[in-house]
Amino acid sequence: METILSIKNLDKKYGKVHAVNNLSFDIKKGEVYGILGPNGSGKSTTLGIILNVVNRTSGDFNWFDGKLSTHEALKKVGAIIERPNFYPYMSAVQNLQLICKIKGVSYDKIEEKLKVVNLFERRNSKFKTYSLGMKQRLAIASALLNDPEILILDEPTNGLDPQGIHEIRQIIKEIAKNGTTILLASHLLDEVEKVCSHVLIIRNGVKLYSGRVDEMTTSNGYFELESENNKELIKHLENHSSIGSIKEENGILIANLTSELSASEINQFLFNNNITLSHLVKRKPSLEQQFLDLTNNN
Ligand code: ADP
Ligand code: MG
Repeated sequence: METILSIKNLDKKYGKVHAVNNLSFDIKKGEVYGILGPNGSGKSTTLGIILNVVNRTSGDFNWFDGKLSTHEALKKVGAIIERPNFYPYMSAVQNLQLICKIKGVSYDKIEEKLKVVNLFERRNSKFKTYSLGMKQRLAIASALLNDPEILILDEPTNGLDPQGIHEIRQIIKEIAKNGTTILLASHLLDEVEKVCSHVLIIRNGVKLYSGRVDEMTTSNGYFELESENNKELIKHLENHSSIGSIKEENGILIANLTSELSASEINQFLFNNNITLSHLVKRKPSLEQQFLDLTNNN
């Protein structure tokens, strides 16, 4: 699979602030790649570096397998890293025509891209009459004019109402479906879950996790158990290869799983060892809890 962007040991310090700390990751063609982390974790700085608007302290990044200079490569990148800014008294079409001239793109693209972001009906309205969501969608249309290989978005739904958020996410998914690679920075777990195929989770510029979004559930979960004789119960649990740490909370045992094991399997195992349970529940921490655990200072 073709690599769109490869980042190696990237580092950025603003004085004492270590904004990006030895980050490495690759984005492959067709992925919808999320950078997820709380505010101040280094997402925008990372995007700024790869777009050549922020100087790195050290490390490397390579666009398109390093076949092009960064300057040439960036012509194949569409990015929105600031609030959309257009001429308020000009219509969507007029604003996009201006950008076509600057980018050397044919006006033919305007209709197509306005349709992608559902603004074709409103193409002749002045920019200043647009809602924030529409402004953001126009910015996406503008970034798409030259058919970029990759679209980069920094917190694309910030400040929007629920309807506006939904529209932007749908549009991003549609753009991805048509083969454009996407890199999206967000502090919202549910945004990344809904939109992205892959994710890099960072905190204080440090990588905590990278991989597929659907494999982000790092935990196998845990059992809550209780019996008349918890001491005996603990002894047998400790002998089971799928059980990790065990702790007791108000007479209930919490047994963490180190590999997949069903409630009926553990029940059978304990029953075979003459233990009858009065309480057995299998639980998994929610993705949200895991994200909080990951991004909490510890
Ligand atoms: P995010 O986009 O994840 O919210 P940023 O990349 O904007 O995070 O910021 C990462 C850290 O770098 C923060 O501590 C922020 O205060 C700091 N920072 C960002 N830009 C600058 C700058 N121009 N000068 C000094 N510190 C900065
Ligand atoms: Mg930011």
